[in-house]
Amino acid sequence: MNYYSTRSKNDKAGFASAALSGLAPDGGLYVPEEIPGYSASVRSSFGTMDFKDIAFETIKPYVLDDIPVTILEDITQSAFTFTSPFIAVADRFTLELFHGPTAAFKDFGARFMARAFSYLRRGEDKLLKILVATSGDTGGAVADGFFDVPGISVTVLYPKGRVTPLQERQIAGLGKNISALAVQGSFDDCQRLVKAALADNEFKRKMALSSANSINISRLIPQAAYYTAAAGRAYAGLTDPDRDATPRVSSGGGKTAIKNKITRQLPVTLCVPSGNFGNLTAGLYAMKMGAPIKQFIAATNINKTIPDFLASGEYQARLSQATISNAMDVGAPSNFERMASHFSWEEMRRIITGVYVNDDETRETIVRVHDEAGYFLDPHSAVGWKGLDKLRAENKIAEGPAGILCTAHPAKFSEIVQPLVGPPPVPSSLVRAMERTINIKTIPADISALIEALCESFQ
Ligand SMILES: *Cc1c(COP(=O)(O)O)cnc(C)c1O
Repeated sequence: MNYYSTRSKNDKAGFASAALSGLAPDGGLYVPEEIPGYSASVRSSFGTMDFKDIAFETIKPYVLDDIPVTILEDITQSAFTFTSPFIAVADRFTLELFHGPTAAFKDFGARFMARAFSYLRRGEDKLLKILVATSGDTGGAVADGFFDVPGISVTVLYPKGRVTPLQERQIAGLGKNISALAVQGSFDDCQRLVKAALADNEFKRKMALSSANSINISRLIPQAAYYTAAAGRAYAGLTDPDRDATPRVSSGGGKTAIKNKITRQLPVTLCVPSGNFGNLTAGLYAMKMGAPIKQFIAATNINKTIPDFLASGEYQARLSQATISNAMDVGAPSNFERMASHFSWEEMRRIITGVYVNDDETRETIVRVHDEAGYFLDPHSAVGWKGLDKLRAENKIAEGPAGILCTAHPAKFSEIVQPLVGPPPVPSSLVRAMERTINIKTIPADISALIEALCESFQ
């Protein structure tokens, strides 16, 4: 499989170089030359396949030239050691993507990426420096994925004061090969700085550099797997057992019975709480590969660049605004370039319906779903929940099962959740993270300050 830059089809690379460089030399994002299809035998067993096997089949055609199947098997087995249950809640389904070590969906991409990098860099003796800009969750997932991986060091840039104390501990509490830079600016500033450093050829001569944002194709591809797994389940009329880890009110909660049975053989509608649109782009790949998906909902907070684009056909990046769903505070979503390189506006409008949700609606939804269904939502997942409600009220949802991607565990955002509905149950990985001490350097949102900090940490 070849990859080309979103800015020029002449700039081609194989998987290894697309993944390790992060950004194409012309500043574009790498996209696969074609989106492969699942084989007929895989398609007919989506509903019953194990997640790790779906992940293997999903990733294989994209990496085959550079990662042998036996290695890929080891990678998928060791990366995806947690579940992603697709369960019935009230009048819909939730796909819980937060059972990994940092309690957000980004663990899927980051854990695959770290293992793939470690394999692709075998035998190299030059240290690889990975830069990652985060609005909150990416940094923790990437730090955790790469922690203690030999030959690779990670620097996480995050907007100072705009991540939660837990997120800050997940980013800056590991130490060793992981360092943290608090940038005096927004997430968009962090992202701009990373892109500028990666485009600085003089600097790259000194240091092997890569990025681990969803601009990196190796993080995006594995995310397609959980769309296929969920859509396959729904199509086969199945849901997963309601696991202990599922954040329900322990007793007495939940006034509404689950009025939710899946009609078999209908493709699913999936609502994706979105910011930088890596997650939704991965969903588009899954659909093109043959996952039985009818429709996507792009649910954003008031940073509604993409819903506005879907409505008007005009893409207008803007400054991001702070909200209570901070991992989605993105005014200039990087992956728009990818979406636009695969699909025209008309095609996108056929597949994706946009909607946005403000902070008051998000809070009301957390309270209502807790009271009525006995289920804890984090603010991002609540944006998804409310987005589906709004579009249902406007009759914009296709027939068939409808599900929400729950992108983070409610305990990860307990500053927001707890005052509204009391404390959600806390997974043990988050308890351990809160006990860490942190080590941070603060820099202005300026490329020379970043380069200086990187040179220091390099010595
Ligand atoms: C990163 C993140 C999102 C947004 O995902 P994108 O791929 O950037 O659209 C949504 N929710 C949570 C909890 C996240 O961490």
